[in-house]
Amino acid sequence: MKTGNMILVSNRLPTTVEMGPRGPVLKPSSGGLVTALRPVFKARKGYWIGWPGEGPGEEVEKLVAGSSDSACQLIPVMLTPGDLRGFYTGFSNEIVWPLFHDLQARCNFDPTYWKAYVSVNRKFADVTARVADHDSVVWVHDYHLMLLGEFLRGQGIRSRMGFFLHIPFPPVDIFEKLPWRTQILRALFRFDVIGFQTTRDQRNFLSCVRRFLPDVSLQRHDGETRATSGGQVTLIRSFPIGIDFDEFNTHAQQPEIAARVAEIRDDMRGRQIIIGVDRLDYTKGLPERLRAFQHLFTTYKHLRRQVSLVQIVVPSRENIPKYRELKLETEMLISQINGQFGDPGWMPIHYIHRSVQRPELIALYGAADIALVTPIKDGMNLVSKEFCASQVDERGVLILSEFAGSAEQLNHGAVLVNPYDFGAVADALNLAFCMDSDERTQRMRKLRRRVRNANVFRWCDDFCSYLENAYGRSARAA
Ligand code: UDP
Repeated sequence: MKTGNMILVSNRLPTTVEMGPRGPVLKPSSGGLVTALRPVFKARKGYWIGWPGEGPGEEVEKLVAGSSDSACQLIPVMLTPGDLRGFYTGFSNEIVWPLFHDLQARCNFDPTYWKAYVSVNRKFADVTARVADHDSVVWVHDYHLMLLGEFLRGQGIRSRMGFFLHIPFPPVDIFEKLPWRTQILRALFRFDVIGFQTTRDQRNFLSCVRRFLPDVSLQRHDGETRATSGGQVTLIRSFPIGIDFDEFNTHAQQPEIAARVAEIRDDMRGRQIIIGVDRLDYTKGLPERLRAFQHLFTTYKHLRRQVSLVQIVVPSRENIPKYRELKLETEMLISQINGQFGDPGWMPIHYIHRSVQRPELIALYGAADIALVTPIKDGMNLVSKEFCASQVDERGVLILSEFAGSAEQLNHGAVLVNPYDFGAVADALNLAFCMDSDERTQRMRKLRRRVRNANVFRWCDDFCSYLENAYGRSARAA
């Protein structure tokens, strides 16, 4: 066991609160990130700090505080409905989310949101400071908590501190629209390490630093950048997040899943299955994808009745008006396409508007002949990697947006497309439809090798050891 505790801080705790017959109960989350992060607590004991989720405040707080998670102690940050409106719905999801995905026109730069963001970041800092000591390793996750380093340093916390941004970082011409651009950049430099998903994001960030913080000195060496600002040294590098490859690969080979794959293929009567899996979010490029699909049946008439799209759309952020509008637009396009091209024996699009269970998702990935992953911008996109990990018979083709973070790693096996170019997406679909089995296998083999090697455990290990190491190097340089 290493000395010093590990403190993970994220907007949400790895739990959900559910209302049982005798009041709220706490359910552990089982997402990929949670699975990946748990092993860090094997080497050090520690804490996970975050908001526990909606529910009656005091009861939930007691539940979380008294919960026994074998890996780490959960510490709740309690947020009021006003906090959630201004900090989460407002600043995080109506400003940072659209802006960092290059969609400035969707931003609502309400100044009250900034106040809430500052105040909630302070709340997180207060809770974190109670458990952090000199030997702790503090790992802060994502765009909700970009000010945390500054507030923790302000409270005298001198421990190792790293920040990882799960979403993209925008180009300078877009970032400069943010009224609080300098405060955010300055605050980030209180971390010892800043990690990004891709070299694209790292490059964008450095351009913004050059433009808005000219006093920060930047030295590049071997993929990393060393930034010196005041007395603080910060190392900046990309760490592309992965998935738990073995989980998908092993499940996909189980007899129940194999039987379900055969059943789905049978239901589709030999047609090629195209799969789309997305949260209902405007960054996922759903309307653009549907227009490309419409274009496909107009341009490549021979593909009518030969392919069907199974599109899973997971409900998301339903209290934000822009998301409700997107749902209407998506559903209207789907019904237009089905109405225009479908007939009693063939439905062009099978639309599933709910979250599906993991085994069904793996079966759908396994049954698909083509995955259509066309976000207009995405930090990484795990769906593209999960599809490859579930393709145990190596016959699926991945059509991937150039603007997904995963394109940096998967460009050798995937067919890359510009999601705004409907004609090119339709061409890619036709190419995938016609691709012979040798080429399919060759491509999928490359993809699976990459996804298996760059898995989520390696990502976690890389970040943590880099943070330890970086701290040692800065301390020596000071
Ligand atoms: N997913 C899910 N339920 C579903 C469909 C998908 O939990 O019904 C998961 C999927 O397995 C993946 C995640 O949602 O792990 C989506 O991650 P991605 O990085 O592709 O996009 P995000 O939604 O995080 O922007």
